[in-house]
Amino acid sequence: MSLNCIFCNKLVFGESGLTVPQRGPAHQHCYQADSALRRTFQCLDIAELNDDELRDLKDLVLSEENDRRRKQGMSAGNDQAVELF
Ligand SMILES: [Zn+2]
Repeated sequence: MSLNCIFCNKLVFGESGLTVPQRGPAHQHCYQADSALRRTFQCLDIAELNDDELRDLKDLVLSEENDRRRKQGMSAGNDQAVELF
């Protein structure tokens, strides 16, 4: 394995280096810049999903949100709970 940063391809040495699991060495500042730009949720990198998968995920999130709002409406004893679509 080379000791070049997986982000900028320059040599990683000394204290500024770290190892990204399963990927390789990186500079701390490169790693931090990358993770700030990355759209990840827990272990899921949503930038790597294809359009269909992304749509599925969005639908899932929306229906979970609706479901929670409905439950909250019920537990609050609100008989005028708004149905969300
Ligand atoms: Zn770097």
